[in-house]
Amino acid sequence: PVRVRFAPSPTGMLHLGGLRTALFNYLLSKRYGGAFILRIEDTDQKRLVSGAVGNLVKTLEWAGLSFDEGPGKPGDAGPYFQSQRGDLYRKHAYQLLDKGAAYRCFCDSHRLETIRAEAIAQGRPPMYDRRCLHLSQRQIDEKLRVGEPHTIRFIAPSPADPASADAAQFFDIVHGRMRFRGPAGFDDAVLLKSDGLPTYHLANVVDDHYMRITHVLRGEEWLISTPKHRALFRAFGWEAPQYAHLPLLMNADGSKLSKRNRDGPIQGYIDSGYLPSALVNYAALLGWHPGAGDKELYSLEELEQAFSLEGLSRSKSVVSRDRLDWLNKQHLHKEINSESTSSQGHLSRAVLEIDQHISRFSERPDARDTALRALKMCSDRLTFTHDLFGTASYLFADPDLDSEEAKKTVAKVPQDTRLYLLQAAISQLKAYPDLDFSSKPWNGLAKEIALAASVSASNSSGSLAQVSVPKSHAMMMLRFALTGQSTGPKIPELLQFFSHAEILSRLERALA
Ligand code: GLU
Repeated sequence: PVRVRFAPSPTGMLHLGGLRTALFNYLLSKRYGGAFILRIEDTDQKRLVSGAVGNLVKTLEWAGLSFDEGPGKPGDAGPYFQSQRGDLYRKHAYQLLDKGAAYRCFCDSHRLETIRAEAIAQGRPPMYDRRCLHLSQRQIDEKLRVGEPHTIRFIAPSPADPASADAAQFFDIVHGRMRFRGPAGFDDAVLLKSDGLPTYHLANVVDDHYMRITHVLRGEEWLISTPKHRALFRAFGWEAPQYAHLPLLMNADGSKLSKRNRDGPIQGYIDSGYLPSALVNYAALLGWHPGAGDKELYSLEELEQAFSLEGLSRSKSVVSRDRLDWLNKQHLHKEINSESTSSQGHLSRAVLEIDQHISRFSERPDARDTALRALKMCSDRLTFTHDLFGTASYLFADPDLDSEEAKKTVAKVPQDTRLYLLQAAISQLKAYPDLDFSSKPWNGLAKEIALAASVSASNSSGSLAQVSVPKSHAMMMLRFALTGQSTGPKIPELLQFFSHAEILSRLERALA
């Protein structure tokens, strides 16, 4: 079975790139029926941020990416915090030392920095010069006796060694055949630091082995570390997993998506009101193509069915707010109009908020239901639920009848019939207080209003000519009085939305 892991370092908030990595791992485990593991790579104590793990787990939960093993989800490969696995790493570093595949390095940071600076100045890749590899046993024993601090370094296979070719050549699921040349990546990597804590490379390889990881899906920035990891697998006598390095996320202008970018932290998207289903759909399309067809809209469940490794693409993934907004609009529309909306889901918080606005404005016992109806009525126009407060503020307050938009609306009806239309509407509504505004009776009512207005206009015109007011003017006048807008939901929907008293009061207000 497939076993995959998402292995973040808890150094801050989850970003878009991290969410995408987590998502692809999750999808692979779902598609092929395996396990998705959350492993916390927290060995670098200096960089830890408190609360980061809790935040990470919460954010994954928000996105619907539940993991099978990890913090709070015990499994036989735990613990899932690297900080709790120190003994395992030390044991394996010493194992390589005993095998002659690693050595103790006593060089201090000052010397290492000097070597590094020299190499860079001379245009060489900065690599350790292996001075400590050539220490005699007596020298080593003496240094140990006086307690000189040291690290343990891996002996990177030399280019002539078949082990080197094996490590440097491999098949990456995204990039295809890889062949690293030269010494890049073949520095004698530190495995254990002088404080006894493992480096990323050692902990990562040991964990991928003991957690029985079959596929490593991670960001492209780790591609150059892969020969090193493969060399370590080989030195331990273990089989390496398959690798898929996901392309970097780019801004539209080709620059790299930095951590400071507004397109970064997931919390930013949550706060802006994006739905998890939309963000997940968006992240999935950053580096994955469904193949045949041009379907773009996917729920998480659909992605679980459709995902495949073959669909991973190597081209840089360009982030686009426009695309995300479009997806949010589609997902929002779907969620608003789905059955389950009122009781659960991510809309319920928004519904509650809208509900409060509505009840503040009009006291209604069924306010909760009303909020949902408001969303349904306007769902074609919304990218976010909170757009409702902008585009349809008249649902929560008296419409502004003096705005430019309102003047434009009322201008569509000849001035000498406006009054009669409003009066006719008021008397018709008063005559039928229990009218249900589903479309049939509404059509009849609109005709009645137009007719009554025609009669009044004709009577007052002073001439014998009959004035004939069209139904469309009756509708426009109602729209004006109810919303102050020239476009919006259908009139019968608006009439259903407002209470009878509210409708009458808006008509009277327009009349004044
Ligand atoms: N801890 C590494 C990170 O934060 C994990 C890299 C990997 O998946 O191997 O990205």
